[in-house]
Amino acid sequence: MFSALRHVFLNGLQRIIPSDVTATQNSDLRRALADRIRFYNEIGIYDFYRRETQSETIAESEISEKLHPSELREEMPRKSAVVAKPAEEKTFEVLNTRPEHKVADPATALKMIREDLGDCTRCKLHQQGRKQIVFGVGNPRAELMFVGEGPGADEDIQGEPFVGRAGQLLNNMIKAMGLSREEIYIANVVKCRPPGNRTPERDECDTCSPFLMRQIAAIKPKVIVALGAVAAKNLLAINAPMSELRGRFYDFMPTGARSSDPSWQGAKLAVTYHPAFLLRDPRQKGEAWKDLQMVMKFLGLTPPKKEG
Ligand code: SF4
Repeated sequence: MFSALRHVFLNGLQRIIPSDVTATQNSDLRRALADRIRFYNEIGIYDFYRRETQSETIAESEISEKLHPSELREEMPRKSAVVAKPAEEKTFEVLNTRPEHKVADPATALKMIREDLGDCTRCKLHQQGRKQIVFGVGNPRAELMFVGEGPGADEDIQGEPFVGRAGQLLNNMIKAMGLSREEIYIANVVKCRPPGNRTPERDECDTCSPFLMRQIAAIKPKVIVALGAVAAKNLLAINAPMSELRGRFYDFMPTGARSSDPSWQGAKLAVTYHPAFLLRDPRQKGEAWKDLQMVMKFLGLTPPKKEG
């Protein structure tokens, strides 16, 4: 529904910009745009994406002539939300400042994001049998963050990501890296269980992932490990097979993160197999271990010595 709203918003914007906008009309347009952004902010949306259609492509050149590029929403995930020009568009800057930007403590920031999420009904997964929202768990100051696809049955019951059989395997992977679950942070692209453990759909990922982006921006990890193709493709906005996605680091800056933040210039992102896939095909565990060793090398981790 919200994807649709975003398109209505953008299409509406295109309709109300004639080819010769006067200064008064432009001012009215800015006010209307500010009101609309405030409305979206109030319901928890801070990022606006658009997928290009032919009609949008034609109209975009018209908009570009009339509005500063910073006022135009980015088309792809991972690009920054609107950043306003300092003087005349101050309104936009204020409206697009996320609540958690006001706090330095990541634990408080995460609480604010959780409060903003509320009893979320933003996508259709809220009415498809979820028991609860599975927000994320772990150290708010984690250097390493794992991102999965979405909660399964066990996670839905317990309200925590990766607690079932796949979670046990993830725990073993974390331990093999010389870390504990309490030292890292774990979250998913969507926070409600898709029925029958189906793959989350594009609109569901698009609606929920801004909250994941805000979690990442609050935690500021050094490394993110995307578990499986769904997580990787959503974070990287790359549609490629796992064989191409794995084996390297990507530079990653979540949508809406403050690029002026001197303490954090983004994370390195690595891709590996989802633990549920490894349970189905244990032969790939060696490949997953190679991915984790790459991460360990970057973080300066050494595997724990075997006992005995
Ligand atoms: S999956 Fe995310 S966006 Fe959809 S209802 Fe749950 S919390 Fe809200």
